[in-house]
Amino acid sequence: MTAKAGTRSGTHEPGHKPRLGVSTCLLGENVRYDGKEKSDPLLLKAFADHVEWVPVCPEVECGMTVPRDPMHLAGDPSSPRLVTTATGDDQTERMRTWVRSRLDDLAREDLWGFVLKSNSPSCGTRAVPVLDARGAKTGEVAGLFAAAVGERFPLLPVADERSLRDAAEWDGFIERLFCLKRYRDSTRPRRSRESLVAFHAAHELQLMAHGPGVLRKMGELVAHSKELPLEELSVRYEELLRTAMELAATPAKNADVLLHALGLLERYLSPDERQEALALIEEYRGANAPLSLPVTLLGHHIGKYGVEYLDSQSYFDPHPVAFRLRERS
Ligand code: SF4
Repeated sequence: MTAKAGTRSGTHEPGHKPRLGVSTCLLGENVRYDGKEKSDPLLLKAFADHVEWVPVCPEVECGMTVPRDPMHLAGDPSSPRLVTTATGDDQTERMRTWVRSRLDDLAREDLWGFVLKSNSPSCGTRAVPVLDARGAKTGEVAGLFAAAVGERFPLLPVADERSLRDAAEWDGFIERLFCLKRYRDSTRPRRSRESLVAFHAAHELQLMAHGPGVLRKMGELVAHSKELPLEELSVRYEELLRTAMELAATPAKNADVLLHALGLLERYLSPDERQEALALIEEYRGANAPLSLPVTLLGHHIGKYGVEYLDSQSYFDPHPVAFRLRERS
């Protein structure tokens, strides 16, 4: 028995707020090119005081003024340039020089992830247009700062404020945030095979809900972990972890995970308890109940019967409850 009857042990340290890098303008600071206030009330309300923001404005911090000439990305989409729209002044090297040194600072900030401003040639995380000399779109990429963040911090989730208005994107971002943070913590004070194996064991159901095929590959990798140098093992595991967590946890995949968990609980449950759980899982699969209902019910049984393997699974407690209670319109 690992937990008190009817309760699970939980996987979060209370009072440990996620530290998120954020585009300064989303917080309402007047740093935009036009000097206008452009806070994102939905974003601020959704995160409320549950996170600690670390603001970054690439354009102002690299020495540009407010107001300033509007800019866009130009040239080859595989190596876009940051230029002023009216005069074509090339600001790329100025930005790149600042980015290199700012990312060194941010590496010391113990950040969990980033929320960046959509559409900006500096901060946009995706689909920022690259224009040719006549203003025609030649491609879509990430802004210069956002692209550099992704390269420098591949294990940090990055989202933009627009995508987070979508409930599924929000859930995916929050889940990645906490899962990847737990992974990074598991490598401290140093990486070891044992910590990687322990992380994997505690996240099997969560990974199954995102990518059962990727989980199989991760399982094979972990099973042969002693045959690989630690560095190679870590690199390959992290790549698979990122891939799995970026796949959507669909109702069909979640229902399969819940049925799998129910199978492991079966010998503890009365026929009525089993039937109730089964019915709730099928209601969820058919979009007639939220995921939280079967998860809560199974979580209750896991605590009540003290099923050690299931109690250790992050799937039943992927992030603190504050991030589930989204008061967004
Ligand atoms: S989008 Fe980025 S660069 Fe532009 S004002 Fe906001 S924080 Fe600054």
